[in-house]
Amino acid sequence: MKYDVVVVGAGPAGAMASKYAAKNGARTLLIEEHASIGSPVQCTGLISTAALGECEVGEENFVLSKMKGAFVYAPNGEELCIRGKDTKAYVIDRKEFDRVLVERSIEYGVDFQLKTRFIEMERNGISVISNGEKKDIRADVIIGADGIQSNVGRSAGLFRSRNFLSGIQFEAPYSANDPEFVEIFTGTDYAPGFFAWAVPFSGMARIGLARNPGDLPAKHYLEKLLKHRIVASRYRSSRTEHVIGCIPLGPPDKTVKDNVMLVGDAAGQVKPTSGGGVYMGAVCAKIAGEVAAKASRKEADLLEYEKRWRRSVERELAIGMLIHKSLGKLSDENLNDFIRFLNRPEIGEIITEYGDMDHPSGLMQKLFSRGDKLELIRLFGIAFKTLF
Ligand SMILES: Cc1cc2nc3c(=O)[nH]c(=O)nc-3n(C[C@H](O)[C@H](O)[C@H](O)COP(=O)(O)OP(=O)(O)OC[C@H]3O[C@@H](n4cnc5c(N)ncnc54)[C@H](O)[C@@H]3O)c2cc1C
Repeated sequence: MKYDVVVVGAGPAGAMASKYAAKNGARTLLIEEHASIGSPVQCTGLISTAALGECEVGEENFVLSKMKGAFVYAPNGEELCIRGKDTKAYVIDRKEFDRVLVERSIEYGVDFQLKTRFIEMERNGISVISNGEKKDIRADVIIGADGIQSNVGRSAGLFRSRNFLSGIQFEAPYSANDPEFVEIFTGTDYAPGFFAWAVPFSGMARIGLARNPGDLPAKHYLEKLLKHRIVASRYRSSRTEHVIGCIPLGPPDKTVKDNVMLVGDAAGQVKPTSGGGVYMGAVCAKIAGEVAAKASRKEADLLEYEKRWRRSVERELAIGMLIHKSLGKLSDENLNDFIRFLNRPEIGEIITEYGDMDHPSGLMQKLFSRGDKLELIRLFGIAFKTLF
């Protein structure tokens, strides 16, 4: 078997990278180790309207519900309502979403193989175990879209992100106060360094949290979350669909080596403020696919990918990381102050106008450019002091 481009991993990043390689004239193979696309699910399935656009799909049958905003709860219980003017995000069926993206790449001529696991790099391509049989696949360019553990990266000598969050979630019946609003819970009791959530859809919710890895097991925080006044009043019992997984924080120094490139979670292309990786992964995967196709014809160097994806999202990643680290270092008391500050009516208007879950830097710039920014500076200053 000989291909111009082989993409390992049929998640959103792999599907988009393979589609763009084929679209740009490369004979492309996409391989997936599992027997079906999108399982096991390791996602809350909350994606922005922009992410849907970036993945070049519309409001199709994977959309379970539409979200207009969020209720954010401070550690002391104060509620902050962030209300968008219109639909800001979708709750999706990730398995179905991933399947649609792979189907679209197949429509562009991508060959697709399930039950085909990447094993290691070979001189002229890769070796795989396909349906229990070891095989070699020759390829000019290999794209590792194989998630946070990235065996492609390891085998190529590319190091993965050093930092990560660990997440836990389950699905259950849930009587949401307003099914168009996500609920976010902050504080060291529920999610040290990050946040917990309840994302409602069709009488259910995905209830979970992500946190800095620490001594206590994730289950400890989940049990506390279930006792939170809000969650306890809406969730009774029964759990379906357990999810555990890790979220990379920040990209490695290099995402390209020889004839290998990494995309998506494998390259740490995830928003550090929300842990969402679908949007950024798709933006970068499209660049990867295009550059891989050109490189297979010797019309480009793979380093073009490294330069272009960093130019496109690295600033947002860096600002996101700063926000993540700063908020993650705030004590419960300071988080209470921060949420009280955001709860001022005039600040609420700015959030409604400039809030963008894919580009939080715009909102931050707007808040820091205000005349009464001193309170914000004080709060972030406390966090910065503990950072450095
Ligand atoms: C608890 C949790 C909640 C999350 N919630 C959200 C959210 O609401 N919104 C959002 O945007 N993001 C969310 N994320 C992040 C999001 O799930 C990832 O960023 C996204 O799935 C990354 O896409 P990807 O294509 O890079 O990798 P993945 O989706 O991980 O896909 C990698 C694929 O590669 C395959 N693979 C791995 N190794 C091999 C191999 N050796 N050979 C062949 N195939 C292989 C895997 O089976 C998999 O199909 C969440 C993550 C977690 C852990």
